[in-house]
Amino acid sequence: MLAWGVLALPAAEPELEIRVIYDNTSVREDVPADWGFSSAVTFRGRRALFDSGTKPELFLANLERMGIEPSSIETAMISHQHPDHRNGLYELYPLNTRMSVHFLEAFYEKAFDEAAAIGMKVQREARPYELIPGAYSTGMIVGDPPEQSLAIETSRGIVLIVGCSHPGIVTIVEKVQQQRGADSVRLLLGGFHMFRQNERQIQTQIRRLRELQVKRVMPAHCTGDLAKALFAEAYGSNFEPLGAGKVLRLD
Ligand SMILES: [Zn+2]
Ligand SMILES: [Zn+2]
Repeated sequence: MLAWGVLALPAAEPELEIRVIYDNTSVREDVPADWGFSSAVTFRGRRALFDSGTKPELFLANLERMGIEPSSIETAMISHQHPDHRNGLYELYPLNTRMSVHFLEAFYEKAFDEAAAIGMKVQREARPYELIPGAYSTGMIVGDPPEQSLAIETSRGIVLIVGCSHPGIVTIVEKVQQQRGADSVRLLLGGFHMFRQNERQIQTQIRRLRELQVKRVMPAHCTGDLAKALFAEAYGSNFEPLGAGKVLRLD
């Protein structure tokens, strides 16, 4: 088997690029919104998939519209067992069987049974691990259900991608800072799971995230409209909502 190499990208490529493939909202007309989350992460020329959306057909169509070749995806991690993060992968995998796939060992059996049915080899993770060079999974963080998040160590600090934040967004940030020996987070993005929370609950967490030196936020997916509005108020120009079709470039 050929070893994965650095993608041949133009010299002007940023250190980190994140393309949002699937989200509850959309910023591009031809990349439709649907409940779920997925993003493609290219860091220093290596590409990983973080989550894979709900409807496989829409996921694959959005992937194509976002210019991501299935064969360019070296590895995939699924944040947690819920179908709105996991489903698309089962249709993507047959298009690129060289891709390594990382679940948590705590996922329900159904996730592994569906993988076995299509011959998809899955790594059952529990401890933190390096997904691609410089980008680390937290490993299992206890929650209902348990979840893993992705901490990317850019030259200007940690960019943290979360799926649904079932363990709690504050818990995840604290865990990442412990694991990576960091005292801030450059950018936090993904689903913060606050759509059923009231203003007081949300404000408590926003205050704590600011204490933890989370400098910039891009809430998506299950964050909810109230929480997005409160983050916008607290973070000002360091807030930006994410949506399917978004391309983020960070140096
Ligand atoms: Zn979700
Ligand atoms: Zn979920």
